[in-house]
Amino acid sequence: MVSLTPDKMASQESVRLTAQARTGSFAHGGAHIDSWYAATADTELRFTEFVGSDRVDVCVIGGGLTGLATALELTERGARVAVLEANRVAWGASGRNGGHICSFTPCRSAPYLRDFGKEGAARVFAMTREGQERIVQRAERYGIDCDLRRGYYHACEGKHQMQDARELQREFASYGYTETQMLEGNEESCTVVNSPRYIGGLLETEGGHMHPLKYCQGMARAIVAQGGKIYEDTLVLGWERTGAEKGKAASPYQIYCAKGDLVADQLVVACNAYQNFKHPILNREILPVGSFVVATESLGKEGAESILPRDLSVATNRNLGEYYRRTSDHRVLFGARANYSGKENIRNSDTIVAKMMVNLLPSLEGVKIDYAWGGLLAITARRAFRVGRLGTGAYYAHGYSGSGVLLTQVAAHAMAQEIDGAQNDSLATGRAGQGSDFALLEKVRAWQFPGGRMWRKPMLVLAGRVMQLQDLRK
Ligand SMILES: Cc1cc2nc3c(=O)[nH]c(=O)nc-3n(C[C@H](O)[C@H](O)[C@H](O)COP(=O)(O)OP(=O)(O)OC[C@H]3O[C@@H](n4cnc5c(N)ncnc54)[C@H](O)[C@@H]3O)c2cc1C
Repeated sequence: MVSLTPDKMASQESVRLTAQARTGSFAHGGAHIDSWYAATADTELRFTEFVGSDRVDVCVIGGGLTGLATALELTERGARVAVLEANRVAWGASGRNGGHICSFTPCRSAPYLRDFGKEGAARVFAMTREGQERIVQRAERYGIDCDLRRGYYHACEGKHQMQDARELQREFASYGYTETQMLEGNEESCTVVNSPRYIGGLLETEGGHMHPLKYCQGMARAIVAQGGKIYEDTLVLGWERTGAEKGKAASPYQIYCAKGDLVADQLVVACNAYQNFKHPILNREILPVGSFVVATESLGKEGAESILPRDLSVATNRNLGEYYRRTSDHRVLFGARANYSGKENIRNSDTIVAKMMVNLLPSLEGVKIDYAWGGLLAITARRAFRVGRLGTGAYYAHGYSGSGVLLTQVAAHAMAQEIDGAQNDSLATGRAGQGSDFALLEKVRAWQFPGGRMWRKPMLVLAGRVMQLQDLRK
């Protein structure tokens, strides 16, 4: 693996979208894909396209969990913010995911211990605690009805998975999180998920699940209520730094859209797996991976309770584990199967995922699948999410590696803090943020995927196969 040190991260003053993204279907403003989320969210919520010109403090590109949470925190701090979204609010992974709020990062603490030692790793762990609290408080403060439930279960099919779950419990305890419990044996496990496949697992009070599209729509409404601006159907074609304005030391950014240009002091790129800009950092650090979800027909309250009695998030405790939960209208929403080709549509994904579901939850045999969909998430080589700068006053966050529902909120908070510090610093250097969460996260070492441009994807497919083989050892 090659480490991307800051001196190798060339800052680009002028960035453009790839030609493919300009001409592809992505460029035409998409409706939400057909999913249980889209069917149960507010279909009337629309924002206009950006036309003409405007001047703001901060421009956020991408209206998903990352972009909206960053914009919301900045409007709360009094900044003038505009969100530019190519399609609709939460059109990307944010409006399609399993809704699981993990309690920690998918890489656990190993990369943070390696980069910072115990103190730094403990701070990252604390950020994830605070991130969960922020979701709860935000939903309460803005009255966002997003079906929020707390609690997470790492279900284990065999003794290796149980051993790993015990290690995870010890790791949690080493950071002071002791509200966890190992369930031993199938009978105990069935109190959480009625499946003959599991021999136990780790039960958490933290984590949980929610309706991510409703949560995003709630954040969007709150942004606008506080004077922020959101534009949909607005594909950003690129940006560049222009000459310094009178009385300002730093040059603002000119952000180019099809029907107008926006000028902003600071810029946030929040496009994750759907990003198509020609920029070395944005391209090298992440790879898009497909994930697929099905939602059963409604099983009725009793039917859903008989399968998931405690209404918790459940994930099989392995590399490429399945994730599932109940919905507010008593369905099972089941996700699985990483596809490393970078495609969000694969043939028969509904039957493949439904088969995996019935394998784990045999009582769902014969149950109708009402919805099936897929989307792209972004992974990093270390499975540690990335937060950083593309240049002075330009920030990005991505690569949540499957745990973005929580980690987007952690990254957004760190970016908003940093931007707010820089905004109030007359030199706009960002120095105000030294010692901040952002400063710590920015130092997490990034690795490039091996194989160069040609071989990165095939190597990733190979890595996926290796993980699948590891997973055979239950
Ligand atoms: C099927 C699936 C299931 C998942 N399940 C879970 C789960 O249960 N738990 C969990 O923690 N994580 C899950 N994830 C991952 C999680 O959803 C993501 O990590 C998270 O949503 C990323 O949010 P984001 O805002 O960074 O990116 P996205 O939500 O992907 O948003 C990026 C946005 O940028 C916009 N955009 C791109 N380019 C431009 C441009 N040039 N101009 C303007 N806008 C642009 C796109 O239209 C898009 O709306 C899942 C992902 C998928 C696909």
